[in-house]
Amino acid sequence: MRQQQRRRRKKNYSIQIIWGMVAIVTILGLIVGFKLGFSDNNNNDTIVNAADHPADGDKNYVTLTTTPTTTPTATPTATITPTPTLVPTQVVEPTKAVTPTPQVLNEIDSNQEDINIDNDNFAATPEEESTKEVQKMVALTFDDGPYPPVTERILKVLKDNDSHATFFVVGNRMETYAQTVQQAFEEGNQIGNHTFSHKDLTKLKVNEIEYEVEYSNDLINENADVGNAYFRPPYGAKSDIVKSTVKVPLIFWSVDSLDWKSRDKDAIYKEIMGTVKDGDIILMHDLYPTTADAMEKVIPALISEGYKLVTVQELLEAKGIAPEAGTVYYNGR
Ligand code: ZN
Repeated sequence: MRQQQRRRRKKNYSIQIIWGMVAIVTILGLIVGFKLGFSDNNNNDTIVNAADHPADGDKNYVTLTTTPTTTPTATPTATITPTPTLVPTQVVEPTKAVTPTPQVLNEIDSNQEDINIDNDNFAATPEEESTKEVQKMVALTFDDGPYPPVTERILKVLKDNDSHATFFVVGNRMETYAQTVQQAFEEGNQIGNHTFSHKDLTKLKVNEIEYEVEYSNDLINENADVGNAYFRPPYGAKSDIVKSTVKVPLIFWSVDSLDWKSRDKDAIYKEIMGTVKDGDIILMHDLYPTTADAMEKVIPALISEGYKLVTVQELLEAKGIAPEAGTVYYNGR
C-alpha cells in the first residue's frame, strides 16, 4: 500500500513539473502576444482629421487599419502552439491528477480571449481544433439618422434576420423622429451619440464640445434609456482635446462602405463583402435609400458567411474588450 502511495506521489510530482513547464510556455506566449497587441493599440491612437470629407468616410483611416490588422491575426497561432505539448501528459494517464491544470490555465487565460477559446478545446487534437470555427461577428453602424424612410427599412431587415446594429443618431433630429429611435432601441439595437448638430468637434472650444455631446446624450435618453451613449465624432474628426472632453468610448470603424459617396447598392455590397473580417465595425449612413437597398443583400450575405451581426457594445464584450472613456476603438480585435 505505502509503495503504491509513494509511486502515486512520484507520479503526481512529475505531472506537476510537466504542468509547470506548460504554464511557463503559456506565459511566454502570452507576453509575446500582449506585446504585439499593444503596439496595435498605439497605431489606433494616431490622430486623424478627416474634416474635408462630406460625410464620415475617412480615407486616411483605411490605410491606418490595413497594417495593424495583419499582425494580431498571426500572433494567436504562436500562442496556441503550447497545446500539443499537453498531449503527452495525457498519455501518462494520470486519471484525476489532470484536474488542477485547467484551473491554472484558466487563471492565466483570463487576460486573453484567444487562449480561452483554445482552452475550450483542451482535449481536442490539433486537427480537430483547426476545423472547429469560432463564431465570427461584425457590428453594422449607421450614422446621421434617424431618417424614418431609410432607418425603418433597415430596422425591418435587421429584425427579419434576427440581427442588431448600432445607430449613431444626431441630437437635433431626435424630437422629429423620436419614435424611430424608440423603435430601434426596443428592437435590441444600440443607440449611439453623433453630437447635437453634426459639427467638426476639432474646431470647437471645450465647452462647445461638451454641449454637442452632453445635450445630444440627454435627448437620446429621453427616448432610449442608454445612460452614457457610445460616441462617434462627425467626419471621424478627433484631437487630444476631443478625446479628453468626451467622457465615453469613441467608436470609429474598420470598414468604410463609402455609401455616402457611391449611393449604389452594388458598390456598397462589394465594398463590404470584399473586405469584411471577424471583429469589423462597418460604417454606413441611414440617410440614403441605396444604403437600405444594400442592407437587403448585405445582411443575409454576411449571415450566410457565418457572421453574427451584433451591436458595438456586444462586439466589444464578446471579444473581451472593456471600453474606456476617451479611448478610440476601430474594431473588436
Ligand atoms: Zn456623420
